[in-house]
Amino acid sequence: MKEDLKNKISIAEQQFQEWRSLSFDQRQSYLPRFAEVLERYKDEFSRLITTEMNKPISESVSEIEKCIKMARYYSEIDNYNAAEKVETEFRISEIRYEPLGIILGVMPWNFPFWQALRFIIPAILAGNVAVMKHASICFGSGKAIESAMEEAGFPAGVFQNLEIGHKEVEELLAHPAVRAVSLTGSEKAGAQVASTAAIHIKKSVLELGGSDAFIVMQDADLRRAAEEGARARLQNCGQACNAGKRFIVQENIAEDFVPMLVEEFKKFQPGDKFKAETLLSGLAKAEFGDDLEAQYRRAVEAGAEILLPLNRVSDIAFEPGLLKVLPDNPVLKEEVFGPLGFILFAENAAEALEIANDVPYGLSASVWTRDEKLSNYFTENLECGMVSINKMSSSDPRLPFGGIKNSGFGTELSHLALREFVHAKTIVGH
Ligand code: NAP
Repeated sequence: MKEDLKNKISIAEQQFQEWRSLSFDQRQSYLPRFAEVLERYKDEFSRLITTEMNKPISESVSEIEKCIKMARYYSEIDNYNAAEKVETEFRISEIRYEPLGIILGVMPWNFPFWQALRFIIPAILAGNVAVMKHASICFGSGKAIESAMEEAGFPAGVFQNLEIGHKEVEELLAHPAVRAVSLTGSEKAGAQVASTAAIHIKKSVLELGGSDAFIVMQDADLRRAAEEGARARLQNCGQACNAGKRFIVQENIAEDFVPMLVEEFKKFQPGDKFKAETLLSGLAKAEFGDDLEAQYRRAVEAGAEILLPLNRVSDIAFEPGLLKVLPDNPVLKEEVFGPLGFILFAENAAEALEIANDVPYGLSASVWTRDEKLSNYFTENLECGMVSINKMSSSDPRLPFGGIKNSGFGTELSHLALREFVHAKTIVGH
């Protein structure tokens, strides 16, 4: 390991001893100031996000606003990790939740502030210290987060941004002071990093890809479903883990719903990423455009019908596409990261459910129906970490977020995230 990285780990190790000894309230007291710093630099940070990974500026602003909300939420949350007394025959009998040490974050480029902070804030609030390897195209965002935390007064070493590559991630996981890793990214990255962590007997939390279902039943508010459906698929230029990627529509409303969805998709035309009114800009990298075109071609070769052609207008920008596919189209088993939607028809709820669950992923799903019995049927049987009813899927600081199946394991956000990187210590005796 290089000297510079060794030094950073040693700073983190020393700070951990100080930081863990503070009370929960003391650690929490930095968060209102941190929210203020985010507010102060909102425009600057938003421009940085858009510059680094190309999303429309209005969405970068929303991302920073959501981070501010999260910082405020955690600044007021009760201490979920307070010691618990347990009634036993012993005089002393209690559980304490103790922090683990240095937690490594490995983060993606698609929400450069949000993903990073939703890992960092609960991890450090629980008494850990954090280090982070951001996606290589978002090192500027990583550095900006570190500076913002410094400006908010967090002691040096509570959080450090590391500008490192894959090899150093491996080295860090071998370091005895690094106790766990949280990775948000692709299945491939998750499998590699979690395997290395496992070799060193360290915990991992994995927030990976998704191919979420957006189910529209015959009694739904079709206009709203079409509006939110387009947004669910196309926001962030189609590069969200929990985007509604597969529209599963009850057959008997196809004639009404499909034209509405096509009309809504057409409203997302590629434009200047720095203009406030732009809804769709470019993908994060040109190579992602090549991957997207290849998936589109393969889907069509496998029999998909083109409802709206995916049209590449530059190396990174596309007019959005929509394909009608049958459940056996192989593209449905892959994650599609870009402005391309798939629509499938189901005769009834049972068939819609079968199609929805027939993917390797299990992140979230959105169900559109006014019938409570039907929505209960879906919430009970959908294989995923989150079900949204009559709204698109979106994460919320107050509610847990995390997938099942190949979408990963572990929980971020809400009070539950405070328990991810602690161990339960039992104290018992007379
Ligand atoms: P990615 O290519 O897997 O990269 C994610 C992070 O992992 C980056 O920092 C990357 O570094 C690093 N990485 C990749 N392979 C690694 C290895 N072998 N060892 C160490 N580090 C490694 O993913 P991405 O393209 O940035 O993000 C898109 C993916 O993230 C999509 O699949 C999306 O669904 C998923 N995602 C999931 C959630 C969720 O909450 N479930 C949220 C957002 C995104 P480099 O940049 O240096 O390669």
